[in-house]
Amino acid sequence: MTVEAMVLEAPGTPLRAASLPQRELAAGQVRIRIDACGVCRTDLHIRDGELAEPKLPLVLGHQIVGTVVESAAGLPEGMRVGVPWLAWTDGECRYCREGRENLCDHALFTGYTVDGGYSEETVADGRYCLELPSGPTAVELAPLLCAGLIGYRSMRFTDDAERLGLYGFGASAHIVAQLARRQGRRVFAFTRAGDDAAQSLARSLGAEWAGAVGEKPEELDAAIIFAPVGELVPEALAATAKGGIVVCAGIHMTAIPSFPYELLWGERVLRSVANLTREDGRELFRLVAEEPVKTSVEVHPLGEAGLALERLRSGRVHGAAVLRIRP
Ligand SMILES: [Zn+2]
Ligand SMILES: [Zn+2]
Repeated sequence: MTVEAMVLEAPGTPLRAASLPQRELAAGQVRIRIDACGVCRTDLHIRDGELAEPKLPLVLGHQIVGTVVESAAGLPEGMRVGVPWLAWTDGECRYCREGRENLCDHALFTGYTVDGGYSEETVADGRYCLELPSGPTAVELAPLLCAGLIGYRSMRFTDDAERLGLYGFGASAHIVAQLARRQGRRVFAFTRAGDDAAQSLARSLGAEWAGAVGEKPEELDAAIIFAPVGELVPEALAATAKGGIVVCAGIHMTAIPSFPYELLWGERVLRSVANLTREDGRELFRLVAEEPVKTSVEVHPLGEAGLALERLRSGRVHGAAVLRIRP
């Protein structure tokens, strides 16, 4: 029995199609038939060698939507589940004991240190799978598993900021904009100059202003930086009011240039967001079950995973890219 997958043999090399032997199911694990898997910028960072020590060879992909087909865990066969980035934690380190499992010293990550979802099926620890609502399609749900989750966690760290700036309007921001509008926040979307498609997507999802980085629509109360560009940190701090919060949502960012202390002065806060907790996942999917989030999705077959990554790199994906693995 073999499983079709797209495999990364070494960082910096193209993904290649491979037939892998079906993985054994250990106690506590479930086998998942994958319907769709989102393509995340983090996958690109791993592919390019910007994140240290991935499992190799590796099946990328940590935004998996599928169905449990075999269970050695508490989950029933036939259950619709999502597999996010957080694959496993030790439950014992000081971070786990303090309810901060996202910072676990020994965590494993889907599609990075364990195989992920650019594949027909996967094996996951049942305790880290998220129950998904039945209404939306797999392709619609997939971007929520990371872009949505990290975006949601990032937005929580902006407290009750009313004027929220989003730097980089891609997979994450297009979900956050909708969640923010529901909470009555005002959304300002900053994109690359001339990216009319991203700016009009932002406006269609409730942003009251969308324009290029460097433009000054209004002072912000908080900003979330999704683009992996260090220069955006002083830029966002300069755009933020006293007491404002700037959250860096990415797992990788180019070096942050030095900047005058006055940009941080005035009790501005600069912080990052790392990974997610299972509770973040449960909260987000409760919100989505109450009122669906509209995801704007570009769909590719599994064999085009490399192409989808290149389109993401060059900023040609509007909204999120998703691999549709089962029709
Ligand atoms: Zn731990
Ligand atoms: Zn991701």
